[in-house]
Amino acid sequence: MVSIVWLRDDLRTADNPALLAAVHGGEAAALYVLDEESPGIRPLGAAAKWWLHHALKSLREDLDALGIPLVLLRGPAGEVVPAFVQQSGAEQIFWNRRYGGPEREVDTAVKERAAAEGVHAESFQASLLHEPWTVRTGSGGPYRVFTPFWRTVSAMDFRAPLSAPEPAAAPPAGIPSGVDLDDWNLLPQHPDWTAGLAEAWIPGEEAGMSALSDFLGGPVENYDDGRDRPAKPGTSRLSPYLRWGHVSPFQVWHELSRVRGKGPGPDVFGTEIGWREFCWHQLFHNPDLATKNLRPAFDGFPWDHPEGAGPRTPAILRGKQAQAPLESRPEELDPLDAWKAGRTGIPLVDAGQRQLWSIGWMHNRVRMVTASFLIKNLGIHWRVGEEWFWETLVDADPASNPANWQWVAGSGADAAPFFRIFNPQTQAKRFDPDGAYIARWVPQALTPAYPEPLVDLTESRRHALEAYESIR
Ligand SMILES: Cc1cc2nc3c(=O)[nH]c(=O)nc-3n(C[C@H](O)[C@H](O)[C@H](O)COP(=O)(O)OP(=O)(O)OC[C@H]3O[C@@H](n4cnc5c(N)ncnc54)[C@H](O)[C@@H]3O)c2cc1C
Repeated sequence: MVSIVWLRDDLRTADNPALLAAVHGGEAAALYVLDEESPGIRPLGAAAKWWLHHALKSLREDLDALGIPLVLLRGPAGEVVPAFVQQSGAEQIFWNRRYGGPEREVDTAVKERAAAEGVHAESFQASLLHEPWTVRTGSGGPYRVFTPFWRTVSAMDFRAPLSAPEPAAAPPAGIPSGVDLDDWNLLPQHPDWTAGLAEAWIPGEEAGMSALSDFLGGPVENYDDGRDRPAKPGTSRLSPYLRWGHVSPFQVWHELSRVRGKGPGPDVFGTEIGWREFCWHQLFHNPDLATKNLRPAFDGFPWDHPEGAGPRTPAILRGKQAQAPLESRPEELDPLDAWKAGRTGIPLVDAGQRQLWSIGWMHNRVRMVTASFLIKNLGIHWRVGEEWFWETLVDADPASNPANWQWVAGSGADAAPFFRIFNPQTQAKRFDPDGAYIARWVPQALTPAYPEPLVDLTESRRHALEAYESIR
């Protein structure tokens, strides 16, 4: 009997209950569908597409070694998946659950269609430690505050990670072939700006598990302090591996339990895994988290720059101007483009934005600072920044990205109060005291020739607080 495993944000062979079920159910084939057409599905950003291309190449090698062919298809999954099941003669299909609104609608439709056609369809929990509908406050609603949420979730018993399946004797016969990965054109061509990404990352399961063991073998011990030092390798850099499911939260939690008790570092790290859960909890209960303020009072906020600018890449990052000396800021650059290009004249903000553009990732402390600067000092809507991060992060996550932007904006769950405005200069002194992070990403910022800040920090702060008063 042929079984299909439909892989989505779980691109791994170990701790993959859907894959195991497919293998146990007979001869297994794996399917990945690039779906940019189903209603409400958010198309991937450019850095995420780069990651996906390499992740699928790596996954194909891992699955080949297990005798499981990986078939790639493109189109609306609600149509493409049932058609593939029928063509391959499969009697069963398995997948691990997704928690976004449009994705759940697609999955429900595929399940109903399978039932109508006599195909067994079954889903599993694999991407989150908690199922968002099982955890409720005393009054029965979803959690809006992190601490009680995590107190409840972290007290639950999480299953141990599962092994990868044993290799099959032979791959199943008669599985229709899919499309060629290269035909998806996931890699940018003109220009190809991904050299920094390729230097910084190896997408895939093996690299993800190495990142986990390297981190738990050392930096985790001092994580409580190290996580705030952007110049040092004090964090795990697991975010893209968790985002794409090369590593599961069950694997992280299980491995983390082996180093618990070595100071506060491991416990603090466990709490960050909790924030990931909390972001997904929010998205499950608020499917429009990326577009709608969780606190409606913010709907009337008088932004200087409204939403809707889109993730357009400014010419200065695309064209020849990218080589323009950093000491100067071309006059025509508007504040949003200056922020995107790391040319605001505020060293920590510029360093962060340049790290993001170079390697598709930014340190968490700096993400908070650059987001706060965009929203509060430049008066630009959080959605504009969220879209830019969505376009440029390799870990761009449907839940963590909007939840964190709303957290910084003050419009989200358990959000920092709006009036808590990060001062990027104070933050730099505190968390990058010797300027090593700034020196790494914008050495010019440490010279007297560096341009003046785009805005006066005190004046723009006052302006932001006045705007906030108008919606209180
Ligand atoms: C404005 C803004 C946007 C963000 N966008 C994303 C995003 O798109 N994708 C993403 O994975 N994270 C996002 N984060 C959260 C955080 O910055 C990254 O998860 C972290 O920097 C990744 O580095 P790391 O793996 O070394 O983290 P570590 O410090 O080693 O943490 C371990 C893991 O915990 C999770 N985690 C840590 N902090 C958070 C957090 N605040 N919220 C949710 N999960 C967290 C991540 O999965 C991370 O890999 C954002 C934060 C801000 C302020």
